[in-house]
Amino acid sequence: MRRGRFAPTPSGKMHLGNARTALLSWLHMRSLGGEFILRMEDIDTARSRKEWAELALTDLRWLGLDWDEGPDIGGPYAPYTQSERLERYEAAFRQLEAKGSLYPCYCSRADILAAVSAPHGLSSEGPAYAGTCRHLTPAERATRGLHKEPSLRFALPEGQEVIFTDGIAGPQTFPPGSGGDFVIRRADGLYSYQLSVVVDDADMLITDVLRGSDLLDSTPRQILLCEALGLEIPEFLHVPLLNGPDGKRLAKRHGGIAISAHRESGTPPERLVGWLAYVSGLIDRPQPVSASELIDSFDLALIPREPIVVDVPHI
Ligand code: GLU
Repeated sequence: MRRGRFAPTPSGKMHLGNARTALLSWLHMRSLGGEFILRMEDIDTARSRKEWAELALTDLRWLGLDWDEGPDIGGPYAPYTQSERLERYEAAFRQLEAKGSLYPCYCSRADILAAVSAPHGLSSEGPAYAGTCRHLTPAERATRGLHKEPSLRFALPEGQEVIFTDGIAGPQTFPPGSGGDFVIRRADGLYSYQLSVVVDDADMLITDVLRGSDLLDSTPRQILLCEALGLEIPEFLHVPLLNGPDGKRLAKRHGGIAISAHRESGTPPERLVGWLAYVSGLIDRPQPVSASELIDSFDLALIPREPIVVDVPHI
């Protein structure tokens, strides 16, 4: 059984970019007769809010998107929620620790920026870590540990490139060390997105990870984590981002992007879905259509391969 998901972070109101990813992931699964699940990625408790998670559920239902399961919390179709799954991340963390894949890192943000190593480049998660703490002696670790709680980083396997074929972006090769060693558990004890997403996709039997191309850089990390944890590697499909007329990623400053604002101002959901389908290449002109009417003709090949420039006020 093919299984897909939409995994928003409730750190703000759901916007057109999120809704587009949700629609495409939902259509991909529904057109294959697969199952679709919803997961709230609220692991970063400081950034997430319950009211934004609730708003996202209302927005998704309004758009005509449904999901197939969830734990019996707050109703039979409540989504999976990361903040309720901490023991699963803890178990994976222990597994990595037992394998010797992790090391403590005492660097501050300023240390990391000062040591950014150009060959590894930047990743979507910020500057690539130069590996400063990777080879500290036990004595150096003990001294630094007196002053600071460390984060725990995953040591990228030496000399291993990561090669995979993305279902939309095509063949990908990431040289050894791409993005640098990354954080698994933060100094404040929170597990990272990279760890939680890999554990969740495996636990939820996800076969197809369709999401925005801003996360393409995270994919080699997630593949290496799957390998280290002995988990099945899903298919990845990264859809080009929606950009505003200024060529920058669609954001609040472009106006009119919160789904709830459209809902509250009386825009019919079919108009918004039609616009999302049009900018994603699924229909020839922006005309009202419901999400379920798009299932039969859905084809990944229709989605443009380059970032899509959109003019928001013209919905
Ligand atoms: N929670 C992430 C976001 O909202 C998406 C994670 C994923 O799809 O892997 O950007």
